[in-house]
Amino acid sequence: MRPRSEYAEPYRIKVVEPIQLTTREEREQIIAKAGYNVFNIPSDKVYIDFLTDSGTSAMSDYQWAGLMVGDEAYAGSKNFHHLKETVEEISGFEYVLPTHQGRAAENILTTILVKPGERVLGNMHFDTTEGHIRLKGGEPVNLVIKEGLETATRHPFKGNIDIGRLIDEIKTYGPERISYIDITVTCNSNGGQPVSMGNIREASRIAREHSIPVFLDAARFAENAYFIREREEGYENKSIAEIAREMFSYADGFTMSAKKDGLVNIGGIFATRDGELYKKAGEWGIIYEGFLTYGGLAGRDLEAMARGLKEVLDEDYLENRIGQVAYLGDCLLDGDIPIIEPTGGHGVYLDARRFLPLIPQSAFPAQALVVELYVEAGIRAVELGTAAFGHKDKKTGEMVYPALELVRLAIPRRVYTDRHMDMVVRALRNIAGRKDRIRGLKLVYEAPVLRHFTAVFEQL
Ligand SMILES: *Cc1c(COP(=O)(O)O)cnc(C)c1O
Repeated sequence: MRPRSEYAEPYRIKVVEPIQLTTREEREQIIAKAGYNVFNIPSDKVYIDFLTDSGTSAMSDYQWAGLMVGDEAYAGSKNFHHLKETVEEISGFEYVLPTHQGRAAENILTTILVKPGERVLGNMHFDTTEGHIRLKGGEPVNLVIKEGLETATRHPFKGNIDIGRLIDEIKTYGPERISYIDITVTCNSNGGQPVSMGNIREASRIAREHSIPVFLDAARFAENAYFIREREEGYENKSIAEIAREMFSYADGFTMSAKKDGLVNIGGIFATRDGELYKKAGEWGIIYEGFLTYGGLAGRDLEAMARGLKEVLDEDYLENRIGQVAYLGDCLLDGDIPIIEPTGGHGVYLDARRFLPLIPQSAFPAQALVVELYVEAGIRAVELGTAAFGHKDKKTGEMVYPALELVRLAIPRRVYTDRHMDMVVRALRNIAGRKDRIRGLKLVYEAPVLRHFTAVFEQL
């Protein structure tokens, strides 16, 4: 990777959205009122919003211009045809169904492929995918390589599927009990870690031997292609578009949240090379999403998506994007802030257990760090630790704690400058300087499922 200092952002800024830094006193009041849960903070009280990279991208002037040529016909909109041509050019898949989000495409795919009692194999299924598989009576199975679950191990492709375990699964359960294989690129659930081309090719070869369909969860396909070019032998001189096309060539289709590498604020895609599958998908799509050529979106949204899908393949864009994430990670490491290494495609993950060793897991160290980041500098991150994944054992009633206490700093695309990154580094260094005085939290309200979204805490 070229050193960060050699280049600047490959765009200039034409429209600005003011953001305002509140005072520390204001933030202390706001976070207390929010029950120490940043999901309850109004976004205009946030200075740097790292809650998610989903739907938060800045669109280009060309995408905004596309909104003006939205063709809002119920059927056969010209924007749909533009989207279809673009998807076909990028992926080689002829049949394209727009959906309102990624999870809607997953709903359609799992509805047609998953029968009760079947298994869906993958590197690591994203939580919405897992939910849809379970709703159809299926069992999501995660087969990521063991390095993918170790925070301090460096491996170029920590999103890879463990091929040995894949073969074992097929042997143990038989191909007829496996609905399909779903490869998530990049692997969101372990930090946006990439999957190598060799791994996709091998998984696909094995699947084809047993007539098991292969799909990509392609939310961050371009970021994955960029990592392949940087890290995999034989791809140094290929274009991102060529690499992406090869990735898709090993699959029968894909689902995608366009809110990531589609560079749009809303949208999703289901695509396949299989005409029969498309026909079935369309039947469900019409009920769940809308007619085949709009899928729950306005014509203008389809146009922005078609344009975004082309822009995301731009090499300078990707270098800047992945470079910015790496820059933040490197600056934090320089300041002895513990993070997951290497950084992945869309964010930096802080290891709150190493950062706040005095706070036990029962007092939510990762959530405490999220609270401190907000109080320190108005930065909104997200907890991926005990608040999100801790739960009571159904039989014993004992608390089961997750292996990792992480805080995710998800970086929106084309939104913040490196100066914002510098400010995040300063804030975390200040927090590190007073970490012995940081208080843990106590949970005072929790919902029965997905509790972290609405949980209320008190400071200990
Ligand atoms: C975001 C995401 C989804 C779900 O997409 P939505 O657009 O949020 O519905 C599915 N898979 C992965 C890998 C994602 O990152």
